[in-house]
Amino acid sequence: MIAGSLERLRETLVWVVARVPFYRERFTAAGIDPAKVTAEELRRIPLLRKADLVRTQRERPPFGELLAVSREEFASLHTSPGPIFIPRIASERGGTPALVKEIEAMGVRRGDVAHVTLNYHIMPGGLRIHRAFEHFGCLVINGGVGNTEMQVQLARAYGATVYAGVPSFLRQIGIVAREQGIDLRREMPYRVAFSTAEKLTPELRAELDDMFGVELFDHIGEAQIGPVAGECRAHQGMHLSENDLFCEFLDPESGEPAAAGGVGELIASHLGPRGLPLVRYAPGDAYRLLEGDCPCGNPQPRVEFFGQVGTIRKVKGVLIHPIAAADYLARFPGTGRFQIVVEQRPGESFERATVRVGLKDAALAGAEAGRDLARRIAGGIKGALLIQMDVEVCPEDEIPAEAAGPGFARAIVTKSAA
Ligand SMILES: [Zn+2]
Repeated sequence: MIAGSLERLRETLVWVVARVPFYRERFTAAGIDPAKVTAEELRRIPLLRKADLVRTQRERPPFGELLAVSREEFASLHTSPGPIFIPRIASERGGTPALVKEIEAMGVRRGDVAHVTLNYHIMPGGLRIHRAFEHFGCLVINGGVGNTEMQVQLARAYGATVYAGVPSFLRQIGIVAREQGIDLRREMPYRVAFSTAEKLTPELRAELDDMFGVELFDHIGEAQIGPVAGECRAHQGMHLSENDLFCEFLDPESGEPAAAGGVGELIASHLGPRGLPLVRYAPGDAYRLLEGDCPCGNPQPRVEFFGQVGTIRKVKGVLIHPIAAADYLARFPGTGRFQIVVEQRPGESFERATVRVGLKDAALAGAEAGRDLARRIAGGIKGALLIQMDVEVCPEDEIPAEAAGPGFARAIVTKSAA
């Protein structure tokens, strides 16, 4: 899937290529005219990975070879872990227009009091969200991270109706407030929450709604490229921020555009002038592309975060992320880390896949109860992961530690035919 205006991409690339020799060389080498580039031609321009950004900035500190403007034009300087140095020019507005649209789609009202508990230090996230709520017409509290008791006090004193931050911290605020004898539903008037920078599970969403009576909206943004996608009131996936980005979603194995319903790696190119323009930037994230129209009427395509590209593997033709397997196995108490072993046996045209599930109670692995558990896990696996796999249980120490989350480095392995 390709999303975003090709016309605006061409205008931007003409501007970028005229100013940045690094990109000019890439377009010249590929024999592509940025003013006429097609989506197919664009795929001949090499990807820019986070490691490439770090490398060019180390070689030519601090901004590397991608700068499009002179220092006099910078308005602010952000930094993300790496470190990656991100200058912002005043006119690019740091993702504000895309965020304002998301805020509107959440049902936030002008005059709402927005409590922002993201990090304001060094990284761009906190300020970016703060500016957007202010621009929309909210009163914004620069809460920042930590200081939970103080955050409870601020939220109550100012009557915060909107929360913006990681969802687990909203839960923490609720726990601390309850310990102080505060009735969350009466005295903490959060109505809407903008959830970012952390996975919003259905369980956490339900728990927070139960605590505060708050409607949560998931959002994905990235330090370098800005807002990527956010949920609307239909809560059926996140709409892409096409205004700021030209997005390609490519099959992580074939490099061809992924179809609706499939999974693709995000390759994002900035639209409009930027201090440090990114062309075909690949942060390493894969998304599931949702099919059909959203009931809210917004035609912008919808996505769901799928996982980091490095840990995703195609098994029997279906992309599997270890997190999806971990989420499924979490429904079975007593299970620990696991490993999916993919095997191509001689003479068989299809791959076999076996999930080896480690059990906390090693004695259970050899017992009838263990075999019964394996049968129950196997029974629901196709519903959860879209392919059938064999299931074996074993003591947890037989599963390598590197298979465990959050890295899942060896969660999916191939067994050689020999
Ligand atoms: Zn929608």
